[in-house]
Amino acid sequence: MSRVNTVLGPVPAAELGFVAVHEHVGYGMPGSELDTQWWKTPEQRYAETVPKLRRFREHGGGTFVDVTGICNGRDVDYYKSLSAKTGVHIVACTGFVGGDTALPHFARASVDYLNRQFVHEITVGIGDTGSRAGVIKVGVSRGGRMTELDKRIYRAAARAAVMTGVPILTHLAIDPEPAVAIFEEEGLPLHRVLFGHADDGPNAPNTPHEWIFERGGRIGFDTFGYETELADPPFWARPRRERLEHFLSLVHQGHLDQLLASADANCSPLGWPGVRGHTVNYLFEDLIPDLRDAGVDQATITKLFVDNPADFLTIHS
Ligand SMILES: [Zn+2]
Repeated sequence: MSRVNTVLGPVPAAELGFVAVHEHVGYGMPGSELDTQWWKTPEQRYAETVPKLRRFREHGGGTFVDVTGICNGRDVDYYKSLSAKTGVHIVACTGFVGGDTALPHFARASVDYLNRQFVHEITVGIGDTGSRAGVIKVGVSRGGRMTELDKRIYRAAARAAVMTGVPILTHLAIDPEPAVAIFEEEGLPLHRVLFGHADDGPNAPNTPHEWIFERGGRIGFDTFGYETELADPPFWARPRRERLEHFLSLVHQGHLDQLLASADANCSPLGWPGVRGHTVNYLFEDLIPDLRDAGVDQATITKLFVDNPADFLTIHS
């Protein structure tokens, strides 16, 4: 039976429902938990997060994929209680947002060590939570080129994906040639990889979308809502219309099967103020209305948010 690991246990892929495939319960840079200025009590984090997940559920949201890697504030016991409280399936990840967010213990580790860590978190559990990771996160460090450490993490992740059948989700789709070479060397079919952040302001122009599609990779338009129209836009913002039109052009060119969409929002940011006014509910409150206005039908919306993520997240054994 096709199934997906959530923090409360495996669920059939058909029960995931509407999926937000790239999100964060709480994301911060390594060490931000030690900054007095940013300490948050569990009550404060709950108060910020629960209403957003409840609203997501009310809108018809089924599954929230948290891709906060190791060292960035991942907190699986907390995710379990949020899932139980709100009824939203939460999928947690193993892996790292990028080499540049891996603490020295991991930054010095071999491919073999990292691989065993990822496989353990997928097949046994994350720490003592009993929850198994449902996706593997990897990424390109700041600077626009994959570093030696990024490549070590990608190779360990590729081996873990082949061994366990869990898919890989990337932070950034720039400089994909070394990544694709590693995946091919390790025998991982590229439809098991979602190349993320292919839509943001600085990275969209540098991402070879066609080249990734041709090789069978999936593309994530997963920063929807980070717009230059926001009161205080982040550096990765992009004009709303421009992103939407770019996305629609790929749909119209026949790439719907390989596309996924999400908001990359942060329910309760750790160590930084976050981006005000942006939540996972952008998907229901802004993106889907924009898609409908552009003439996109319900079947396409279902494919994008239900069928494609279920196919991607299903453990291939
Ligand atoms: Zn993210």
